[in-house]
Amino acid sequence: LCQQATFIKSASLVTQCPPDIGLEVAFAGRSNAGKSSALNTLTHARLARTSKTPGRTQLINFFRLDDERRLVDLPGYGYAKVPLELKAHWQQHLDAYLTGRHSLAGLVLVMDLRHPLSDFDCMMLEWARKSGIPAHVLLSKADKLAYGAAKNELLKVQARMRKELRSDATVQLFSSPKRQGVEQAHEVLAGWLFP
Ligand code: GDP
Repeated sequence: LCQQATFIKSASLVTQCPPDIGLEVAFAGRSNAGKSSALNTLTHARLARTSKTPGRTQLINFFRLDDERRLVDLPGYGYAKVPLELKAHWQQHLDAYLTGRHSLAGLVLVMDLRHPLSDFDCMMLEWARKSGIPAHVLLSKADKLAYGAAKNELLKVQARMRKELRSDATVQLFSSPKRQGVEQAHEVLAGWLFP
């Protein structure tokens, strides 16, 4: 399914989003966390633009899987060089999408394994918990650590999420260049998109 993903459209306002029917899974993350790479790796396509100037695009990008299913690339959050008013716009834009979107079946939150659980990440997990949207965390760039160290980080993040955030989101290691964790992530997506 994910191999047939194609770009549908970008929206800078919620009113520009495609019709709110069927099911979609949204990808969120801090700028540079590896969200675009993860989307591309999971879809076998170069859908999302990986960028050295993070925070440049403030658009919600929609990718079609089939007539009733979509993946959604939410704008990367938190790059220091984005002006304040753009950040405010982003916040409103994201809020409107998250609170109003009926077809949203799950949230994938991408975090750099070496810098997990930023304020933004915690906010997203809290939002998911409160709104009852299931969340799954990809701890990206797992290839940057030795396997044992990565596994250890995974356990630490898991424990903090449960205890401090009372989040029941699932967590896994992920690496785009190594294609580590692709099957596990596909299973989660399939579970949400084919309930
Ligand atoms: P985004 O801003 O969250 O969309 O992040 P990108 O996907 O553009 O990635 C940011 C930078 O991290 C790029 O230089 C990527 O090549 C690199 N990157 C992303 N994912 C991984 C990964 O799993 N492993 C490694 N080693 N680098 C990664």
